[in-house]
Amino acid sequence: MMRKGLAVSPGVAIGTAYCIQEVFVAADRHVVPKDDVAAELARYRAACEATARDLESLQEKVTAQVGRQTGAIFAVHRAILRDPAFTQRVPHWITTEQLSAAAALKRLLGEYQALFEQAQDEHLRERINDVRDVVIRLSAYVSEALRPESHALPGPLIVIADELLPSQAVTLGQIEVAGIVTERGSQTSHAAIIARSRGIPAVSGVAHILHQVTTGDLVIVDGRHGHVFIHPDEGTLAAYRKLEREYQLLRRQWVAARELPSTTADGTPLELLANVNNAQEANLAQDQGAGGVGLYRTEYLYLTHPALPDEEEQYREYCRVIEASPRHLVTLRTLDIGGDKTVPYLGHQHPEANPFLGWRSIRLSFEHPELFATQLRAVLRAAHHARQLGGELRVLFPMITTVEELRKVRRMLYRAGQQLAERGVEYLPVSCGMMLEVPAAAATLDLLLPLVDFVCVGSNDLVQYLMAADRDNPKVSHLYQPLAPAVLRVLQQSIQICRQAKKPITVCGEMAGQPRAFLVLLGLGLRSFSMSPAFLPSIKQLAQHVTVNQCRAWADHALTLRSARGVRRFLTQCLEELAPELNLLETD
Ligand code: PEP
Ligand code: MG
Repeated sequence: MMRKGLAVSPGVAIGTAYCIQEVFVAADRHVVPKDDVAAELARYRAACEATARDLESLQEKVTAQVGRQTGAIFAVHRAILRDPAFTQRVPHWITTEQLSAAAALKRLLGEYQALFEQAQDEHLRERINDVRDVVIRLSAYVSEALRPESHALPGPLIVIADELLPSQAVTLGQIEVAGIVTERGSQTSHAAIIARSRGIPAVSGVAHILHQVTTGDLVIVDGRHGHVFIHPDEGTLAAYRKLEREYQLLRRQWVAARELPSTTADGTPLELLANVNNAQEANLAQDQGAGGVGLYRTEYLYLTHPALPDEEEQYREYCRVIEASPRHLVTLRTLDIGGDKTVPYLGHQHPEANPFLGWRSIRLSFEHPELFATQLRAVLRAAHHARQLGGELRVLFPMITTVEELRKVRRMLYRAGQQLAERGVEYLPVSCGMMLEVPAAAATLDLLLPLVDFVCVGSNDLVQYLMAADRDNPKVSHLYQPLAPAVLRVLQQSIQICRQAKKPITVCGEMAGQPRAFLVLLGLGLRSFSMSPAFLPSIKQLAQHVTVNQCRAWADHALTLRSARGVRRFLTQCLEELAPELNLLETD
């Protein structure tokens, strides 16, 4: 059977399905042998104790750092965990029906969901999120023992999930994953970005796939065209085995290509940087021959942390990333939470109607000035560490929309330095940059530039806001087009304005690492690119094949075309002329 979804991370993988629901909340039919019932009860009790401890420390930290109101969320969660109606049903099912703790938790959540759905009061209906949160925490603890099952499965694994939350995607590093298929999510959802950063082919937006695949099934993931084959026939399998070999060959060539200089065929120097989430990925960036880290997304520290990390923890983590990064050059982006990345302890308990237009990113940082100041102090201290290693740490502010916001971040940064000076702690002032991802900022870039030292184009967001097409909604993915004429025009203008003002500009959205977009950006005058580490070697190779003049002519022509489809078709031809094998790295 073949299912069609959205191609979100290129490449081809063949492997054994591993349905991730079972990792976090085990399947209904999971029954334990009679002899294991006592162990299962003990596992559940231990999970309850560990969860209670987590919640208690979360409540303390959040109350101290964010405020009593937000901290109170965890008081509610603790009360749920103490409620006998909640806690006693699980041991009852384990004892009487021999259900595994995970399966019992799943049933419990199902019962609560059914109950809450009937509630008339909307506020009450929303409380199901609190119950869910507690159940998921418990499940994560009881599932610890389920995880080894993944190792018992044969061959490379294809993870099948409803939606991969960013924090889950990060923990996937512990399992050998060859491919990913999700029911929800899209090109630029953060799980897709993580898949690309690891070179893992992925397809999203495949509705009800979890009903069609069970753990152990043979599955093919075609991350170029967004195809997923379940129990493929012999012919399909043979064809894909060949493609998979080619993809793996390409990946091996990358290893050789990473040593290449970052220049075009005519010797124009380029800055080819990496986007990373943590020190492990900074190491990967080093391995792939990056010139530095162009975007360090700090939110993953928060997403994977049970509670707010304090200044010392952040400082230590930033130092680890700086130490692991090529030439110790790091552009650190301050907290960019919101949109599809939510953290319950930052008050994201109730969903917003328009999360991407709402309370995210710098807006959230401004609303938690203490939390923001803590991050800025950690950044300034880490900048000192980078200098000592002979590198540099720069800071980047996400989702900048107005001049006032930039003035405010500058003031806050200055004050953070003063606080450190008062404490007698070593720090270093840093270069300040803005993410260009909001159309209003693009329209007023000349007004914003005097307040920053550099610009990073967040094309993932810029495209969604320009095209008014949610980056995570498969229904409007036909509009979400980085090669749309509107996007190319805005990029052309922005590059020109920065050049006139002599302010460096980098593109750090996903398009920087896509071969077709790379060609057109180079032609528009861009010289600095930051991308998922996995794409660096092939982009280096591609750069070696083209001259700036050639790309300029292509970009000029692309700018005359009237549709994204036309631009794509034209650039595909250009790529065919240069390096046809790189089409394997494109997604439809
Ligand atoms: C972007 O928007 O292009 C970007 C790099 O930021 P993020 O993907 O983290 O929103
Ligand atoms: Mg962004």
